[in-house]
Amino acid sequence: MSSRRFALPTGDRSASSGGFFVNMKTNINSGKPGGSPQTVPVASDEQLEEFRRASVALESASPEEIITWAVENHYPNLTMATAFGPEGCVILSMLGKIEPRVYVFNLDTGYQFQETLDLRDRIAERYGIEVAYVGSELSVEQYEAQHGGPLYEREPDRCCFDRKIRILREHVVGFTGWMSGIRRDQSAHRAKAPIVGWDKKFGLVKISPLANWTKQEVWKRITDEDVPYNPLHDQGYPSVGCRPCTRAVLFGEDERAGRWSGTAKTECGLHTVDDED
Ligand code: SF4
Repeated sequence: MSSRRFALPTGDRSASSGGFFVNMKTNINSGKPGGSPQTVPVASDEQLEEFRRASVALESASPEEIITWAVENHYPNLTMATAFGPEGCVILSMLGKIEPRVYVFNLDTGYQFQETLDLRDRIAERYGIEVAYVGSELSVEQYEAQHGGPLYEREPDRCCFDRKIRILREHVVGFTGWMSGIRRDQSAHRAKAPIVGWDKKFGLVKISPLANWTKQEVWKRITDEDVPYNPLHDQGYPSVGCRPCTRAVLFGEDERAGRWSGTAKTECGLHTVDDED
């Protein structure tokens, strides 16, 4: 772990002073992973300014330093959702050295590739991080029977909401921060993602340690450290989501061109930066 320290706004976390992380947590109505849906917390203007300053201060920090900041400011109320993409696997490799007890989970929609699901054991063996699978109470069979067939074919936004967004929203109750593996160079949509920002959709501080990294830097780390990754990436799938909504990309295509191909949809809604302050 890096010994470098940043002069960052961290808020006053003492219970007596009502520092902003404490206030944020009490707004959430204490809960545990898997708890029932609660009111989504709202950040004050003062808090938003704190996050903005933290983000600016971390612009030149390494991903490890950003993760360390996240741990120091939010653990044990820090979490991470991973789909085991290359970026997620790299963050897990760093987290394994910094704080492997951070609660990490996978949104198991029931539609994931087996190759993706198999990564859980490889990550656990290598880094000691046991990624939890969390999903809808309805199996794929029950869900499709309820809707007269697969919704991903005609209402993918609804399907993503039911199988991912709603589950995530319920599952993060009680946490104050979550980490994501998004990179600014992945798409125009993600280009304005801050290192630290307020995710108003889920009422969490969102930390993106790899926002400033390139695809090449991610893959260099994977190669240099032999980080486990999804074998589908070697078969033409630079971005892997659910099986029905992912195809291999052609030479020269955008790395996310294989996601919801043939539709206007480009994001599942987890990382819709437009919705963030
Ligand atoms: Fe459904 Fe496709 Fe979204 Fe997966 S990616 S939740 S299958 S619409």
